[in-house]
Amino acid sequence: MQFEAWWLILIPIVFSLGWIAARLDRKIREDEQKVMPTSYFKGVNFLLNEQPDKAIDAFLEVAALDTSTVELHFALANLFRKKGEIDRAIRVHQFLAQREQISQIDRDQATFELGVDYLKAGILDRAELALKSLGNTSFKTQAASQLLDLYELEKDWDKAIEQANQMRQLGAEVPISSISHFYCELALQAIANVQLDLATTYLHTALQVNQSSVRACLLLGDVHFQAENYLQALQAWQTAEQLNPWYLPLVGQKIWIAYANTNQTKQGLHVLVQYCKKYPSIDLLLILIEAQEQLYGAESAFQLLRQEVRARPSLLALDALLERQLNDQLSHDKHEDFQLIRELIARFTQRLERYRCQTCGFQAKSFYWQCPGCANWDSIIPRRAEELDFYPVNTKNLMA
Ligand SMILES: [Zn+2]
Repeated sequence: MQFEAWWLILIPIVFSLGWIAARLDRKIREDEQKVMPTSYFKGVNFLLNEQPDKAIDAFLEVAALDTSTVELHFALANLFRKKGEIDRAIRVHQFLAQREQISQIDRDQATFELGVDYLKAGILDRAELALKSLGNTSFKTQAASQLLDLYELEKDWDKAIEQANQMRQLGAEVPISSISHFYCELALQAIANVQLDLATTYLHTALQVNQSSVRACLLLGDVHFQAENYLQALQAWQTAEQLNPWYLPLVGQKIWIAYANTNQTKQGLHVLVQYCKKYPSIDLLLILIEAQEQLYGAESAFQLLRQEVRARPSLLALDALLERQLNDQLSHDKHEDFQLIRELIARFTQRLERYRCQTCGFQAKSFYWQCPGCANWDSIIPRRAEELDFYPVNTKNLMA
């Protein structure tokens, strides 16, 4: 009898629990619907259809209805940033970073994103402040990487080196080639201030960090060259040749002067001929032609250039050939014809003589070790666009 009584009590309890569970389920569904009104789904739809403007409007409507939608705020700020509306992204992230009702992780994320916004907007002091405040949070690695970008942007190479070393100690991957570039940049500043000893110290450190830094060798040569130690300069450039010969055009002119200033013009010319054979480059060729002219006269230089243009056709070299012809004593008519041809060619050669980044395609008239377009180091090769287009080489061999 006792057993049956238990059943009588249990049955209503089970029914009550079922009823409560059903109510709870309904409430959760109602709550979900409250958090995600139709505007939210509209926004997602616009996003999927790549209509960010309409998506922003729809999401703004949701955010205004319910201020607890943290993820939505992040998504919105991200959209603003992608559209280049950094000031609006900053406002959303500032709002999140100052809200005490949200979790610490969300606040840290907002501070990190705020730092990135400031970095993109070029407000570097505020970016540094925001990113530095994340030193003991779960965003410290990401913040450290952004800080490194910031110091590179500011060209504060001392801070960049310190930051990179700290990151490596924490196990983050910072290429040693980047750190050696930072030391090379410091050396460049020292060279500009005629502090040659200091520059040498920086360059030796650059080589300690990265033994295969061709830039450090080239710059060591520059330091010796500036101090008129031409033989030592030539030695440094020979080391650079062993590391990566494709960078020789950057110092070709100085190599010739160093040979000339040590009364080794014939040896210098021979070296340039060898370089041009082994590592063909329009820049080296033009230096060789000048050297040939200094040693054997204009006619000989002209013949050599003509021979090279035939062997390895190039508009840039042809332009140089025409320039030399124009310098000759030509009749008035011939002179005008040559002038016209040269002007026509010049329209193309301006584009052809640019250097090009292998990562982002950025083109520049001057050579940069760090691409101004994508901020990558060593992504621009010291070869003119024309050479890269018409005489393709394995760019891996060209990278420093
Ligand atoms: Zn680039």
